[in-house]
Amino acid sequence: MMLMGLRRQVLDVSVQVYRTQMARGTSGNVSARDPESGMIAITPSAIPYERLQEEDIVIIDPNGELVYDHQRPSSETPMHTLVYRERQDVNGIVHTHSLYATVFSVLNKELPVVTVPMAAFGPVPVVPFRFPGSQELAEEVVRCLGYRQKAVLMQNHGALCVGNTVEEALECAIYTEEGAQVSYLALLAGGLNPIPGRYVSAIKEASQI
Ligand code: 13P
Ligand code: ZN
Repeated sequence: MMLMGLRRQVLDVSVQVYRTQMARGTSGNVSARDPESGMIAITPSAIPYERLQEEDIVIIDPNGELVYDHQRPSSETPMHTLVYRERQDVNGIVHTHSLYATVFSVLNKELPVVTVPMAAFGPVPVVPFRFPGSQELAEEVVRCLGYRQKAVLMQNHGALCVGNTVEEALECAIYTEEGAQVSYLALLAGGLNPIPGRYVSAIKEASQI
């Protein structure tokens, strides 16, 4: 029963990812972990968001083995499962191909902290390009996330955001994309001024209370 709730959460967040235009077609993926059993609900591979139903969400164990499969799990399952194995504080992951975050990943440019919400998790570094869905990409992402980073960009690919819940990971993805849009427009308009470092640290500390 618990897992039914988990699948519903993943579906609801996936619908938000699509509605906010952070993913088009079948790009991106979403997962949530049940902290008690360690089971993971993850979006299926290559199913368009508008057709996604609760029963399409796949249940896998912490090693990525199928527990309940109506569909094939996301091709990024190695990345999701490795993040969960390495980060006990993470119970939700949102991977998007949102436009402006992807632009920064193509520029191979760390996203600075330009907005107040970003101070809670930024700056956002870029992970070097690796084959999508590979163990190599999973390992680079986990290395870059370390023990507290909540958002990374993947070069020429998109963004990956984590949270204590999948709703928190969605929020992080929304603010990462907003930060990338603001940065891009500020650069075009003539210059970019990040929030001073001491304020970023203070906001980060306050947000972790
Ligand atoms: P899936 O449809 O297999 O989840 O793949 C989408 C994606 O974004 C791969 O990086
Ligand atoms: Zn992707």
